[in-house]
Amino acid sequence: MRLAGKGTVNILGVVFDDVTKASAADAIIAHAKDGGTLAAVFTPNSELVEQCAEGDGTLTGIINSAKLTLPDSVGIMKAARMFGTPLTERIPGVEFGEEVLARAAENFLPVYFLGGRPGVAEAAGARMEAKYPGLSVVGTADGYFERTPSAVAAVIAKIAGSGARILFVCLGAPAQEKFIYENRRALEDAGVRVALGLGGSLDIYAGISRRAPGLFVSLGLEWLWRLLREPSRIGRMAALPKFYLRCRREAKKRKKQSRRA
Ligand code: UDP
Repeated sequence: MRLAGKGTVNILGVVFDDVTKASAADAIIAHAKDGGTLAAVFTPNSELVEQCAEGDGTLTGIINSAKLTLPDSVGIMKAARMFGTPLTERIPGVEFGEEVLARAAENFLPVYFLGGRPGVAEAAGARMEAKYPGLSVVGTADGYFERTPSAVAAVIAKIAGSGARILFVCLGAPAQEKFIYENRRALEDAGVRVALGLGGSLDIYAGISRRAPGLFVSLGLEWLWRLLREPSRIGRMAALPKFYLRCRREAKKRKKQSRRA
């Protein structure tokens, strides 16, 4: 059972929910209040879906274990249209995170920020608490801990001790999705009800990075903005044309199949 939406759309094996930002945030808050289990929320972009498509299915399985999967990028929106199954609204993870924080503040739901370089989550917490009166960021930790069982257990023990119901995991993709998936039982036992994988959002909340200006966003060129600011992403971005070509092939295949049917 998905957490919200009027259906799902399959993009190269990855299941996305057709939701609006507001309805998805409402559903998350309702689950954080009353849900008995942990719900994972992922916001894949084209790069991550291409990684899923190139893999053996393991990463796809991890992403599809989410209760809510939101289309972060323009590329995902275009692919959905190409397949004849358009999605209602693009929902960038960083915007969605704020939507959740605003509602967490109104509902007095405690939040924990995990990820970013030392000091970033703390600064993000202070800025968001100032922006959303009533918000309680009850704990923070940086994302540069060792991925050994004991170090991971120590991170989760801190989360458990904080009493957080909502956890922002900002370790980059796919590390954050794997972290949530591999530790889902421990996080549930720690009292977390919603865990969201939100990439570089804490850097933006902390005021360390800036989102692309509106012009780049409206032209669908956010990827170019990121590349100009972080040229080292060039290798990762090779995934974007591959994703586009793979979607074109898949769309053609689907058309042929539907003609035959
Ligand atoms: N990060 C982290 N631990 C790591 C590697 C990365 O906490 O071991 C953080 C990094 O500081 C940054 C975020 O993860 O804040 C990755 O941001 P990016 O926008 O690159 O996310 P992606 O596009 O990979 O989802």
